[in-house]
Amino acid sequence: MGTAALTHCIFCDIIKGAAEVSVCYEDTESIAFMDIQPVNAGHVLVVPRQHVESFLDLPKRLGTHLFDVAMQLAPAIRKVSGAEGMNVIVSSGAAAGQDVYHFHIHLIPRRQGDGFDVRLPFAESDMPDRTILDMMAARIIGALRDPTRSQGTPREAAAVP
Ligand code: AMP
Ligand code: ZN
Repeated sequence: MGTAALTHCIFCDIIKGAAEVSVCYEDTESIAFMDIQPVNAGHVLVVPRQHVESFLDLPKRLGTHLFDVAMQLAPAIRKVSGAEGMNVIVSSGAAAGQDVYHFHIHLIPRRQGDGFDVRLPFAESDMPDRTILDMMAARIIGALRDPTRSQGTPREAAAVP
C-alpha cells in the first residue's frame, strides 16, 4: 500500500483543485506550479497528475513525459528569472531528502552567490580506486541483465519490447 492511502498528499489536493496553487503549465498527465518556498524566484515543480510516490515508482512513459515538460519549461524559466544557471533535482526517498511523497522534478533557477548548495563532487568523499568503480559498474550491468528486475509498472513492463 502506498503512502497515498495512509497520509494526506498536498500535491493531490492541488491537482484536485482543493489547495492554492500558481500553475505555469498543465496537460492531461502533468501540472507544473510555483514552489511555495522557492530557492529563487521562478522555482517550479513538475508533477504527474497520478499519485506516484518516487522516482523508482514512476512508470517509464510518464517519466519521459515529465522530463519532456521540464525541458520545455527550463528555457522559459531562465528567460523570466534571468537565471545564470539551473538545477534540475529529483529527491527520491527520505534518505535523499524527499519531503513530499508525490513525485516531482524541481527546476531551480540559479545565480552566482545565491547561497543554495548542491555541490558535487561531495567534499567528504574520497576518489576510490578504479577497480572499485569497475566492480560497481559490473554489478549494475549484471542487475540490468537480470530478467527478474522490475521495469516500471507491470502493465508498462508488458509493453516494453
Ligand atoms: P522535496 O524535498 O523534493 O520533496 O521538496 C518538496 C517541495 O515542495 C519543497 O520545495 C516545498 O517548498 C514544496 N511545496 C510543499 N508544499 C507546497 C505547496 N502547497 N505548493 C507548492 N510547493 C510546495
Ligand atoms: Zn499525491
